[in-house]
Amino acid sequence: MSKRLFLALLSVSAIVYSQEKEPTNPEATEIYKPVPPRVVAGEYGTAPSDAIVLFDGKHFDNWISSVDSTAVKWHLNKDGSMTVKDRTGNIQTKQNFGSIQLHLEWKSPKEVQRNGQNRANSGVFLQQRYELQILDNNDNSTYVNGQVGAMYKQGVPLAMASSPSGEWNTYDIIFHAPEFSRGGNIVKQATVTLLHNGILIQDHFEIEGTIEYIGWPKYEAHGKAPLMLQDHNDNSRVSFRNIWIRELD
Ligand code: MG
Repeated sequence: MSKRLFLALLSVSAIVYSQEKEPTNPEATEIYKPVPPRVVAGEYGTAPSDAIVLFDGKHFDNWISSVDSTAVKWHLNKDGSMTVKDRTGNIQTKQNFGSIQLHLEWKSPKEVQRNGQNRANSGVFLQQRYELQILDNNDNSTYVNGQVGAMYKQGVPLAMASSPSGEWNTYDIIFHAPEFSRGGNIVKQATVTLLHNGILIQDHFEIEGTIEYIGWPKYEAHGKAPLMLQDHNDNSRVSFRNIWIRELD
């Protein structure tokens, strides 16, 4: 928008606003309907009343292998968690999602192996395309746009908020899906907000396109798509638990 057009719109809206007589009683500025739905919070970390529970530690019923759409090969642990089984491939939800609120918990192994990008690398792929990095960065540096909590190779996190190796982390994510024109052009970029252990580390970050290991991110038109968790093929041994999601559209 040009500055001149913006100023013109501003003056028009100012005139409209000034034509409305300012209320002289408190009720005139109170809104009663529609009433927001009542949502009951779970005990800390567990699903609220309107969430879709994607993983509660009992089964993989809501997930399939991303490799061939067969049953998940990852380890289902007795403590209510799952662990990446090396070289069995990513897993993804059966359900497709648009804009979401997502909660999950993850931990890297206590016994560390290797360095840089090869130490407990996994990731949360929103709509199968946009990766929030999971990595054990404790005493383990790497490129900062690929460190834990990065929108991989796009968004450097605002802080490094990891628990010690071997202890659980929480990720609370708010993601708004991108919007495309009928012709397939991007008209609204996706955005992501990430709280890592309750600390804001991605603040409504505008995602630049699909994650690229080499080259620039690019948008390709798509609709709702699964949530995907990464097997980085290097014996990451990353575990997950307590995954739930709320649809925002
Ligand atoms: Mg990763």
